[in-house]
Amino acid sequence: MAHSPELRHAAPSSLHTAEFRFYEELNDFLPMARRKRTFAHAFDGTPAVKDTIESLGVPHTEVDLILVDGTSVRFAYRLRGGERVAVYPMFERFDLRPLYRLRPRPLRRTRFVADVHLGVLARRLRLLGFDTVYERHCDDARLASTSVRERRILLTRDVGLLKRGAISRGHWVRATDPQQQIQEVIRAFSLQRDLKPFTRCMACNGELRPVERAAVAGRVPPRVYARFRRFMHCARCERIYWHGSHYEQLKTLTRTLRQETLRDRDASNISTKTRNI
Ligand SMILES: [Zn+2]
Repeated sequence: MAHSPELRHAAPSSLHTAEFRFYEELNDFLPMARRKRTFAHAFDGTPAVKDTIESLGVPHTEVDLILVDGTSVRFAYRLRGGERVAVYPMFERFDLRPLYRLRPRPLRRTRFVADVHLGVLARRLRLLGFDTVYERHCDDARLASTSVRERRILLTRDVGLLKRGAISRGHWVRATDPQQQIQEVIRAFSLQRDLKPFTRCMACNGELRPVERAAVAGRVPPRVYARFRRFMHCARCERIYWHGSHYEQLKTLTRTLRQETLRDRDASNISTKTRNI
């Protein structure tokens, strides 16, 4: 095997080298030359494998399994040199749902906290029924503590934020367009079957409840009151919703996500079976 530049420059005796290989979407964090291939990496002393992985650009929140010479290790495992390190992404992303078909409901409830730059994505997730904490002004420390305390997946475009030690659930949002972002998140966590449109308030994340038509008289425009029969209100902020044009758009979005995802699922099932783990 050809020597890598790291090996050739590894002159001081305290430097050691290990071989790394990252799998699946973890490659998104690597420069092109290191994607989907084994490469050598030199390091000083005996660093924790977690720190070495993060120094290569991959946040630990994206990592679910590390094999060192074929044996799974914890983040604190110390590298000494000469190892082969294989790093795999969160298995939560793989669609394992067929294994649970006997159960009427999914075993887990996926909840999110979105960083300050992802307001549109947060509102769309809420529209689709996902419990999503979002505040326009919220510093990194608070986002991290909300994620940890409430076991919420932290959604962010800031890779550095995901490297905070306390965070164990996170997703680096690759897409910049909100429409693509929602597709990315639904796909990444295999949530196609969990869409519950029109059950959550997009303004405050409260749950929507049906409300008697008579109870909203005087609280919605007269034309709306005359035209619509079914109304919902937010249990938290009392905002009133009805099946207007937003509802039609939401139904279209839901249909698109479900269809697209079924196509993707077929493809990903094949790749899961052939995954070499
Ligand atoms: Zn509300």
